[in-house]
Amino acid sequence: MQALYPGSFDPLTLGHLDVIERAAQLFERVVVAVLRNPSKNPCFSVEQRLAQIGDATAHLPNVQAEAFDGLTVECAQGLGVGVILRGLRAMSDFEYELQIAHMNRRLSPGVETVFLMAGEAYSFISSNLVKEVVSLGGNVDGLVPPLVAERLKRLMAVQK
Ligand code: ADP
Repeated sequence: MQALYPGSFDPLTLGHLDVIERAAQLFERVVVAVLRNPSKNPCFSVEQRLAQIGDATAHLPNVQAEAFDGLTVECAQGLGVGVILRGLRAMSDFEYELQIAHMNRRLSPGVETVFLMAGEAYSFISSNLVKEVVSLGGNVDGLVPPLVAERLKRLMAVQK
C-alpha cells in the first residue's frame, strides 16, 4: 500500500519527519505532498520546501516529495495512492482532521485517511510556532532538521 502525506511543511519539522519515518516502515511508498497554496504567506517557496524534504528523507528510499494543488483526493487518485496520511498531535488537531477526513471520504470513498499519533517528543511542535520563535530570535535547533534550522537562521539574518 502507498500513502500520500499532504501538508504545507512550511517548514518541515522533526514532528513531520518522525511521521514520515514511521510511515516509511508501514507503507511501500510515501509521497510527501507539498500544497501550493497561494492564500498562505509562506516562509519558504514550494521548491525550497521540496528540497528540504528531499534532504531530510535522503536515507528513506521509499519516500519522495511532490508539489500539488487542488483537491488532495485528486492528487492521491492521480498518483494511484489509496491512503491519505495525517498526523495527530492533540484534540485540537482532531476536530479539524475529522472534518477533512469525512469530506475527503465523501469526495472519494475509495481513498482512506490514516492517522499516526505524533511522537511524544514532537507533539508540541508546529510549523507556525517554529516560525514565530525564529522571528523573535529564538533557537529552534532540535525542533527542525539541521538544514532547515540553518535556512531559517539565514532568512532571519537577511530580514534584519
Ligand atoms: P497543514 O497546513 O495541512 O496543517 P502542516 O504542514 O502543518 O500542514 O501539517 C501536515 C500534517 O502533519 C498534519 O496532519 C499535521 O497535523 C501533521 N503534523 C504537524 N506537526 C506535527 C508534529 N509535530 N507531529 C506529528 N504530526 C504533525
